Amino acid sequence: MGPAGSGKGTMSEKIVEHFQLAHISTGDMLRAAIKNKEPYGVETKKLMDEGLLVPDDLINKIVKARLEKSDVIHGFLADGYPRTLPQAQTFDIILDELGKKVDLVIDLTIDFKELAKRITGRRLCPSCGMIYHIAFKPTKVEGICDNCGAKLIQRSDDTVEQLTVRLDEHMRKATPVLAYYEAKGIVRHVDASGTIDEIFDEIKSIIEGAK
Ligand code: AMP
Repeated sequence: MGPAGSGKGTMSEKIVEHFQLAHISTGDMLRAAIKNKEPYGVETKKLMDEGLLVPDDLINKIVKARLEKSDVIHGFLADGYPRTLPQAQTFDIILDELGKKVDLVIDLTIDFKELAKRITGRRLCPSCGMIYHIAFKPTKVEGICDNCGAKLIQRSDDTVEQLTVRLDEHMRKATPVLAYYEAKGIVRHVDASGTIDEIFDEIKSIIEGAK
């Protein structure tokens, strides 16, 4: 967990690679659905562009379908989900049916000024999903994905104005989710203002300690 720009996407990529986990990113799945012109894509794009959350029912349905794929058998990382208390409660029901549970929740904490700096420099590869930053994680050739050669884009919700909306929305919705997991004793808070390597080292030792 963590607000937009806290490094959830970057850390998720590193975690799934290092621990060989399936990556369940609801943001990526929604962006793919919009690209594939799914019937709910138009309304979803509008909400995402406004920095608002997509309805719980839709998100839960997408996650449930994703969890039916075989690659989750050896464990998975949920990135950007659950974002509301009803999502967290439904997630537990879905997992229970599969004989699984949430083992660990990592909460990335960071202040607004640092977030604004990060978010306006973020660039995304629309083709393979890699995330870059013009200052902190630049590509070898400006504007071109190192991984697949596609032209990078800036997400339409990566502006300071949208950051304010998304942060408010995040705080309002995420606080009860964190409390829900705090009550289970599985939350670990990580200071997300360091370098990518520092943050990942801390996360790595937390996950290794929880295994
Ligand atoms: P992300 O890529 O995780 O930052 O998500 C981008 C946008 O997708 C969010 O601002 C929401 O509009 C939508 N979204 C992603 N995950 C969820 C979720 N679990 N619940 C509701 N909306 C979501």
